[in-house]
Parts: sequence; C-alpha cells; structure tokens
Amino acid sequence: MSADPKSIPVARPLVGEPECEAAARVIRSGWLTQGPEVAAFEREFAAFTDAPHACAVSNCTTALHLALLAAGVGPGDEVITASHSFIATANAVHMCGAVPVFVDIEPATYNLDPRLLEAAISPLTKAILCVHQVGLPCDLAAILPMAHARGLPLIEDAACAAGSEILWEGRWERIGRPRGDAACFSFHPRKLLTTGDGGMIVTRNAEWDRKFRLLRQHGMGVPDAVRHGAKQVVFEDYVVPGFNYRLTDLQAAVGREQLKRLPGMVARRREQAEVYARLLADIPGVRVPSEPAWARANWQSYIVRLVGGANRQRAIMQSLLDSGIATRRGVMCSHREPAYRAVAWRAAGPLAESEWAQDEGIILPLYHEMTAGEQERVAEAVRAACSA
Ligand SMILES: *Cc1c(COP(=O)(O)O)cnc(C)c1O
Repeated sequence: MSADPKSIPVARPLVGEPECEAAARVIRSGWLTQGPEVAAFEREFAAFTDAPHACAVSNCTTALHLALLAAGVGPGDEVITASHSFIATANAVHMCGAVPVFVDIEPATYNLDPRLLEAAISPLTKAILCVHQVGLPCDLAAILPMAHARGLPLIEDAACAAGSEILWEGRWERIGRPRGDAACFSFHPRKLLTTGDGGMIVTRNAEWDRKFRLLRQHGMGVPDAVRHGAKQVVFEDYVVPGFNYRLTDLQAAVGREQLKRLPGMVARRREQAEVYARLLADIPGVRVPSEPAWARANWQSYIVRLVGGANRQRAIMQSLLDSGIATRRGVMCSHREPAYRAVAWRAAGPLAESEWAQDEGIILPLYHEMTAGEQERVAEAVRAACSA
C-alpha cells in the first residue's frame, strides 16, 4: 500500500467515448427530446429482456407510478410491498393516493418474504409491488401464483436489476421478461446501465403499454413524431390529464451504448463478487451475501452483514472512511423515515428482519473499473476494522 492511497468510491458509472459520441450525434441532429433515439432504445431494451413492449420514461419512480396507475391503484387502495427498499418504492404507492402495506424480508436475500404475503392481503389490496433488491431477483416463482390466485396485478420494481437473471422452468431468463404484469427499471448512475437519469417499463400488456405512452406525454393523443412527419396538418388533442415523464433522445442515445456494454458489465460484477466472497469469507463477524440456486444477480450493490450488532456499523464505516474507502449503510427501511410519520402506511406484521438488515448491512465499493488490488485493500480494511 502506498503512503497516500487514492480514495475508493462506493460506485462509479462506466461511461466513455461511445456515450460522448452518441450524445453528440443527437445534438447535431437537432432533435433533442423523445424521438427516434427513444424509439430505438425501447426496441433494443425490449429485445434484451425479451419483453413484448418497452416504454421509456424519465426515471424508475415515474415508471412505478405509471405501472401502479395502469394496475388501477388509486386513493384508499392498498399495495403490498417491502419497506426495506429505496424510498421511491413506497413513494410511488403514495403518489397514487394509495397506502403501502409493508411485509418483512427474508434475511438471506433481502427480498420480500413470499410466506408473509397471504396474511398481508386485505379487501383493499389492489396490487403487489415486489422488489429485486440491489439486483438480486426476488422469488417470483412463489409470489406469482399467489398474485394470480388472488387476481392481484404484480408489478416488479426492477430498478437495480437490468441484466440479472432468474431460472424459470429450467431456463435462465433476464429480469424484465416480464413475469409480473409490468417491470420497472432505473438508469440512475448508481445502477449498472445509466442514462444520467432514466427509466423503462416493460410489459406483455399492449393496453398498458398504450396507457404508459399516453400518460408520459401529457395525455396527448398524437405522438410528436407523427405530427412532425405528417404531410397534412394534424391537431393534437389531450385525451386524459397526463404527466411529463419523457426520456430525452440525448439520454436514450447514451442508454443504447450502455445497453451494448451491459452483458460485459454484469460478467465483470459477477467475477468481482466472487473475489469479494473469497477475500471476506474468513473475517469473524462478517457475513458475505449469496444467491439462491435459481438467481444470478447483477451485483448492483455488494452488501456484507455485520453479525452481532447495529452499534458496529457506524464505527466500521468510519474506520473504512478514515482509510479512504467510501461505503453506505444497508438498504433503508421506508417506514423508519420522517416522511412516513406523516403519511398513511400499514405493517402486515413485524418488520424486524428489514430493520436488522438496514442496521447490520454495509454496502462495499463495487464498480466496473475497480481493480483486484482495490478489492484487496477494501477487504483488508474491513478485516482491520472488525478486529479493532
Ligand atoms: C433506484 C431505485 C428506485 C428509483 O429509481 P429512480 O430512477 O432514481 O427514480 C426505485 N426502486 C429501487 C429499488 C431503487 O433502487
């Protein structure tokens, strides 16, 4: 180790010349917002996930909002979801005027525990919003039959899960196929594929896809591209009160380059996760994450568990920061945030596993260009902090 080692960030997007060129191409074209690049990105993302329809939107929060609206979620309804998620999951339910009903997670996967779903259902339940947390697929094979049996739409919060895979009836397939009624992705820089900000909703339901396209563009009955290409004058009309949830062509062009890189990014993350697992395996008090046999994570985040107490989390994170290594605590619990003191929510039961996961989890640095040497430095710093 050098005397003054470079600091290690918790995450860093993989972007470069191809993305710069793509953005420049759009600027030169003169068409900047939702247009041909968005349409091409949608086609390519649909092909990547093997989804019949893909609709690009401004981010995953707006994607979740539109998916829940399409599922018919409205004021007073309940949506079953995880508290242990980025707060946008619960906020999307709140944006519909509905009440999030939180169920606890399985400690091994940090994902919604399917065994707790049945008891969470009430006469007000309108949908289930499951999360593929930090890119590890949730147990769709257990959740989906329950949703079907109760006639409840299933929305997948796949914000972190572009490129993750699930074993489905003996074949590996990408998250987003979709198995639920719609799956929503984020292209924020903390995820693998980034467009700065951005999102995508994939679905099998042509009617839902039409609804997404209408609502993302002010409820306008005629898309811009149609008006601009028309040989005759077209007067647009606004058929429903909509939103401006558009992705821009600038972002989509960057996204198309990122999509080409995605399989390579996932392969690299999976190697790096194995390296971490090896380096951290024998550190007392540290538990490394693992995948069920039916899931292949894209390792959007690498969360280790400090077994034996919340009080160690802050001290260990501080010790790492003192050696120039940035970390984050485990995934948050929405029900503990000040925002959720003032709004309606319900717990379907104890949320103890969710809270422990937040208090004992530490997200270690992980990004495409992170070297084996940097991973070793992180592991050694964790070892030193844990034995202090
Ligand atoms: C990042 C994230 C979101 C929000 O995505 P944005 O594109 O930033 O709106 C939603 N849910 C989960 C689980 C996330 O990790």
